[in-house]
Amino acid sequence: MARSQTGDFEMDNDASPVLLDRLVRALPRNALLVGDAMDPRYQEDRRGGQSARPRFVARPSTTEEVAACLAACNEFGQRLVVQGGRTGLAGGHRVNDGEAVLSTERMTELGEVQPLSRTLLASAGTPLQAVQETADAAGYQFGVDIGARGTATVGGNVATNAGGIRVLRYGMFRAQVAGLEAVLANGTVLSALRGLDKDNAGYDLNQLFIGSEGTLGVVTRVLLRLHPKPIEAANALLAVPSLEAALRLLERLRGAVGSGLSAFELMVSQVYDGVTEFLGMARPVAARQPFYVLAEVQSFHEDHAIERFSTCLMEALEDGLAEDAIVSQSPREFQSLWTMREACADFVHSKDNIMGGDISVPLHCMWTFLEASREAVQRVDPESEFLIFGHLGDGNLHYVIRTPLAHEAMQLVYRLAAESGGSIAAEHGIGIDKKRWLALTRSETEVATMRQLKAALDPRGILNRGRIFDS
Ligand SMILES: Cc1cc2nc3c(=O)[nH]c(=O)nc-3n(C[C@H](O)[C@H](O)[C@H](O)COP(=O)(O)OP(=O)(O)OC[C@H]3O[C@@H](n4cnc5c(N)ncnc54)[C@H](O)[C@@H]3O)c2cc1C
Repeated sequence: MARSQTGDFEMDNDASPVLLDRLVRALPRNALLVGDAMDPRYQEDRRGGQSARPRFVARPSTTEEVAACLAACNEFGQRLVVQGGRTGLAGGHRVNDGEAVLSTERMTELGEVQPLSRTLLASAGTPLQAVQETADAAGYQFGVDIGARGTATVGGNVATNAGGIRVLRYGMFRAQVAGLEAVLANGTVLSALRGLDKDNAGYDLNQLFIGSEGTLGVVTRVLLRLHPKPIEAANALLAVPSLEAALRLLERLRGAVGSGLSAFELMVSQVYDGVTEFLGMARPVAARQPFYVLAEVQSFHEDHAIERFSTCLMEALEDGLAEDAIVSQSPREFQSLWTMREACADFVHSKDNIMGGDISVPLHCMWTFLEASREAVQRVDPESEFLIFGHLGDGNLHYVIRTPLAHEAMQLVYRLAAESGGSIAAEHGIGIDKKRWLALTRSETEVATMRQLKAALDPRGILNRGRIFDS
């Protein structure tokens, strides 16, 4: 189809002309893209997967327009994939053959901070960074931070229940949602933006949409919780002799600064060596050890949390839990350590033959799991390289393997993570890419119940069909 607002459609795809005509009437000018107007960005995929060309791209800017668009597509049985910032790492936003795109890129309205209730209303397409900056300007802090903050959207964050670097203190995205508005596949609007701390009037339907990866409805607006801004923060990088030492260090820091501990990240030496070289930066700590930990503390009162943090790290050095350490002394040093940590993803993706699994394992099983998985992968390919990094404090690691037999090796890692009582999808979701492994961490009855929910809310299966599980 090559016409948008008026005149006849010329057929160049399979979308129904009657449906397109209806969408043209329901949406404002430029909100419907067809033919050459659909630029290739709608087919972008960070994991390098193949995205089909969408039948059309609908870009509503209000809840009412989303509702009109869904109602029309539902009537015509037109399948849609929802796209936010397309930074997802499980292929959920990838376009399957025959699908159209519903993009939230024009839904970027951001409300004002409500100081008494400490909330902020954001439309689904608002980039996470805009939320963080608005909260910061009003003297608050937003609890979730991820490397893709500039592009990832609030709607995508809700749909994937994003995690990131400060889950240890603030929880995942679910914990930031005070209210939510979503549109069901048939166009019904469910608006629950009440923001009440206490509200037990029946089912909390909002919870259904958080982490549902766009399969149950389109998130249109979110009432977000804000947190007090710390008066001070510091981070430290430590070279650590073993995973056991890293876990003992975590335990000690929790004891020393309690909930002031806001991040506890791990890099294996191959990642630390590689990322510093990749960035062309001097190694912040020179000692060569198998593991490196990046820890962060936030201080909220005159509680001397940063002093206690530094003292705890000194004692850890004396007791051999770390061989070398640096504590940031300025905002520049603080940021430079985080920049290095965030570049880990780009560094590993600059390598060939890599495959990454986003696993979580109970902390008390982490050491056994890492040993067992290393042995299992090396049986597949003794030359395998392990490029592991991630959010150790939450039991969540990005388990990246470099081998030409990556699929076979990753299968073993997922199996062992599940056998350790862990998850094969800690924070990125199942999407399309991890469907084949869902049964490792969800029982048949759990998956059957998910299917029943999907059938109840989207009986024609038009929304993100084939994500999480096959229909
Ligand atoms: C460099 C980098 C670092 C990252 N770091 C982290 C991290 O630390 N922690 C983490 O959890 N993730 C991380 N991610 C993954 C990604 O940023 C998150 O999954 C993010 O929440 C996706 O948001 P998005 O707007 O890009 O969603 P998209 O990629 O567009 O979509 C993701 C899924 O959500 C659905 N969706 C999108 N918007 C809506 C909506 N409004 N309503 C319903 N469904 C919707 C899509 O259909 C798809 O299934 C990272 C990604 C990159 C590239």
